[in-house]
Amino acid sequence: MTRTIQTTYRYRLTPTGAQETVLNQFAGARRWVWNWALDRKIAHYRQTGTTLSYHDLAGDLTHLKQQPETAWLREMDSQSLQQALRDLDSAYQQFFRRITRGEKRKGFPRFKSRKTDTPRFRIPQRVVLHAEAVSVPKIGMIRVVIHRPLEGVTKGATFTREPSGHWFVSIVTEQQVAPRTERPVQTHVGVDVGLKSLAVYSTGETIANPRWYRTQSRKLRRAQQALNRKVQGSHNRGKARVVVARLHQKIKNQRADFLHKLSTDLVRHYDLVSIEDLSVRGLAKTKLALSVLDAGWGMFRSMREYKADRNDSHVVAIGRFFASTKMCGACGGIHDITLAMREWDCLNPACGVHHDRDLNAARNSDHEGMRLFELRVAAGDAETQNACGDSVSPIGTVGTG
Ligand SMILES: [Zn+2]
Repeated sequence: MTRTIQTTYRYRLTPTGAQETVLNQFAGARRWVWNWALDRKIAHYRQTGTTLSYHDLAGDLTHLKQQPETAWLREMDSQSLQQALRDLDSAYQQFFRRITRGEKRKGFPRFKSRKTDTPRFRIPQRVVLHAEAVSVPKIGMIRVVIHRPLEGVTKGATFTREPSGHWFVSIVTEQQVAPRTERPVQTHVGVDVGLKSLAVYSTGETIANPRWYRTQSRKLRRAQQALNRKVQGSHNRGKARVVVARLHQKIKNQRADFLHKLSTDLVRHYDLVSIEDLSVRGLAKTKLALSVLDAGWGMFRSMREYKADRNDSHVVAIGRFFASTKMCGACGGIHDITLAMREWDCLNPACGVHHDRDLNAARNSDHEGMRLFELRVAAGDAETQNACGDSVSPIGTVGTG
């Protein structure tokens, strides 16, 4: 029995001026169809108390293409227009699911604005990646920067224009791979997100914050200040905004690249990786705030999980309330360790062991991870063996930028 894995690949496009115009038109058409359909659905519901289905709207859309004033829709890729209707349909379904679950009445689909919505469109089929270009229906070959080869069968492609002005294509593929083989855990490591460095491993290895991160953050801060000084609505302000957006984009790409390398390295070298499960929302207040992980924690987590799954290794998320930092790894005593304490001595008179704060925490995470893992194995909980901890994520997908 094989299993199916999904992967998302993200590539930067370098379209010609004419191609870029068409990409923008496709995105504009998607927004137009979304707004038209949403308007129709609301009006229909007010009149009849019933909902227009996807099929009703798809029929109306075909009709629109025959009207002279909306004949321009024929120039657009028809799949991407139908996809806009499907997207709206699922936005409705999500909204109603929330209502039936008794959650707040929020999340009703909104009209998309040219100013605030990211220009994008999705083509479910017929997009093909070649050696140096991607072929797109009605546009043809658009040159693309290929930094890693695509594997698997293409299941769909989403085109997005980032605030930097660059177009990207995200291609989702499916691949059949051999089922997981369970092998004994021989190498294991605990990882603590460090204060001085990015991370400390229980082996004593430290991972430094990449130098580019500090440099780029400084550049970004300066560009942001320059933007704030520009007059509202001026031409120079527009230019300064692009500079800021490009820097954001660059950091985002470099971060994804870095985290890909780090996660690949971890799951390749260790059969079991134990790491704290931080709450993404609370990150700003933590020691992460100045590290590359700051805005990439969720990404890093899903990378670890899907890579471990493919590599027949394991990752364990250590619960947030496990006192990895405050516990003495030698005697198990809990002490009040403040953020300022880089090193400390265990206060238990019978112990008194000297600790490096981060290394002690990494070792505690390693032990706790092994303990949790063995519990699961003993319980025969095969399904959760891939990713023990609070949750088992589906075979996730994250692509590089
Ligand atoms: Zn102790």
